[in-house]
Amino acid sequence: MNIIEIFAENVFNDNVMKQKLPVDVYSQLKTTREQGDALDSSIASVVATAMKDWAIEKGATHFTHWFQPMTSVTAEKHDSFLSKSNGKAISEFSGKELVRGEADASSFPSGSLRTTFEARGYTAWDPNSFAFIKDNTLCIPTAFCSFSGEALDKKTPLLRSMEAINKQALRILRLFGNNSVTRVLSTAGAEQEYFLIDKALYYKRRDLVLTGRTLMGAKPPKGQELEDHYFGTIRPRVKEYMKELDEELWKLGVYAKTEHNEVAPCQHELAPIYTRSNVATDHNQLIMETMKKVAEKHSLVCLLHEKPFAHINGSGKHNNWSLSTDKKVNLLEAGSSPAENAQFILFFMAVIKAVHEHQDLLRISVASAGNDHRLGGHEAPPAIISVFIGEELQDILLAIEKGEKAQNKQRKVMKLGANTLPNFPMDTTDRNRTSPFAFTGNKFEFRMPGSNYSISGANFIINTIVADALMQYADELEKADDFNLALNKLVAREVTEHKAIIFNGNSYSTSWIEEAKNRGLLNLKSSDEAIPYFKSEENISLFYRHGVLNRAEVISRTEILLESYCKTINIEALTLLEMVKKEIYPAVNLFIIDLSKAIKAKKDILDDNILDADINLFKKLSLLSQSILEGANLLEKFLLDSKKIEDIEELSHYYHDKILNEMENLRLKCDDIESNIGKSYYPMPTYTDLLFSV
Ligand code: ADP
Ligand code: MG
Repeated sequence: MNIIEIFAENVFNDNVMKQKLPVDVYSQLKTTREQGDALDSSIASVVATAMKDWAIEKGATHFTHWFQPMTSVTAEKHDSFLSKSNGKAISEFSGKELVRGEADASSFPSGSLRTTFEARGYTAWDPNSFAFIKDNTLCIPTAFCSFSGEALDKKTPLLRSMEAINKQALRILRLFGNNSVTRVLSTAGAEQEYFLIDKALYYKRRDLVLTGRTLMGAKPPKGQELEDHYFGTIRPRVKEYMKELDEELWKLGVYAKTEHNEVAPCQHELAPIYTRSNVATDHNQLIMETMKKVAEKHSLVCLLHEKPFAHINGSGKHNNWSLSTDKKVNLLEAGSSPAENAQFILFFMAVIKAVHEHQDLLRISVASAGNDHRLGGHEAPPAIISVFIGEELQDILLAIEKGEKAQNKQRKVMKLGANTLPNFPMDTTDRNRTSPFAFTGNKFEFRMPGSNYSISGANFIINTIVADALMQYADELEKADDFNLALNKLVAREVTEHKAIIFNGNSYSTSWIEEAKNRGLLNLKSSDEAIPYFKSEENISLFYRHGVLNRAEVISRTEILLESYCKTINIEALTLLEMVKKEIYPAVNLFIIDLSKAIKAKKDILDDNILDADINLFKKLSLLSQSILEGANLLEKFLLDSKKIEDIEELSHYYHDKILNEMENLRLKCDDIESNIGKSYYPMPTYTDLLFSV
């Protein structure tokens, strides 16, 4: 197989456009894409027909507007190309169908937008994300809005935030005399972690099937402590899987690059080459979807839950982020001239300011019931946001702050715009892996997102908050008489104001929690605590200022997040109840009966006093069986009581404080039972079965 030949064979990309479109249409479409505009209706039908003919040649029969509603999956509604003309079947796909589709919005989460606005919505093509063929269907990547223009999806705010950061970054570039750049793009590369388990075993676990994670399971004798899995040899079955996964992704034009084993048993990672963030978001959705689909074919199941198993690492998604000009210059890469360096420091400082001022939003961008199990668990950053920048860059910033000599070998006076920055290591091998937001030489790596989440959330937040910081800098510097003087003053002041967010130490350590508190940093431990910050007046005006979300959209998103938090835990609680009542309780009773028979048999022959251990086990399990029944009853009562709570915020706290808590109690007892009854009595695959069978 030739990678280059199959790469993007199912994508209507620039090459195909060039071949299939008339020259003038092609160049008009190219300009549209470069400027990030919407498609002009005058060329839409020519593009649509070319696209349809190409798709039919490739075996496609249907088309769909592929979009990302406020759930964790993508949505599509298929229509065939079939049409009727003079009693004959013809294939048809009009410009109108390409540009705009209608979808009934009422069945997708829309928070209060459902009542405020019309239920119907429409989808609109994002011409910067290429159409592709999947399952014989031409998929057109689209944004999804209500008829009055409110965003009903995850893509729209991302596209709007890319406009916002483009606008503000260009203002900064102009200040540095850079007039040739016409567009600044945010870029993203998301490393995706996942678990692969055996399909037959998966279907024996109600919790995995219904909730994506195990709701019980005793600690296996072997977990990840030997660290023998990370980067280990990939087993043949997994290798076959990865091979097919790569091929499928390449055909879809996804630059799947790195595949390796992760820390936990049967955990793996795939990293693509980065691209502009809207395309990276689409590609990440395709990666997740393809991972699941290919797994099926190999009798495997791909788990994308953030914490499928207790006791071992969960799965995250590292979102690498940077800014790039249309001339392919990375704005977060230090340059070689004093001016380039000064510009780099200003962009760098803007990110630090943004993270410091908007810790709440970054925390919310990764909030979900699933990710809460992972954050702060010594496998992922804590819920406290901080930035790692490394000692060298920290020295440089502090030197600028003081206007003194930098703490580096050259001992130069740090004056932005006049000096070249001392070299700092661009090597990313030896770096802090515990930081939630780490500078890794020429990009920032946001490590908090969970494996399941769309990266649109993290990226639209990062874009917006950095755009806001850049806007404030541009406002100030555009007024300055002496640019260099003003720049030095600004950066020095900003370092003083925002250095509290910089932390190069171990973010997993307990002492950091105390220190972060002293620094005044937020620690929003659970999602129900974090999400309501989203609709603070400050945040509403931030999003409004940059045209990313209006008030109604912010409020509806807050509701959707809280609703989804409650619903997730509700499903988990109901599943756990079923497992306890239908599986664990009957199992432990069977074991108790057999144990009692064994004890009686032993009593006939042996002295009573040597049966203490048997009797203790009998007592322990009898008590545990009572206790799980009581626990299940209590959980049932809590679930019933929850129905009386109308306020969604209050309800989310109830789910966190009462229901999750009782689920955890119940789980511990079930795990204790598992550890003490015979293997043949335990009604489902154990952790060892699940983790060591692939
Ligand atoms: P790690 O050491 O964190 O495992 P990897 O090399 O696996 O790093 O992944 C790094 C990711 O960062 C890749 O997806 C890569 O494409 C992405 N990346 C590199 N440069 C940029 C950039 N300028 N903007 C966004 N993402 C980038
Ligand atoms: Mg990483």
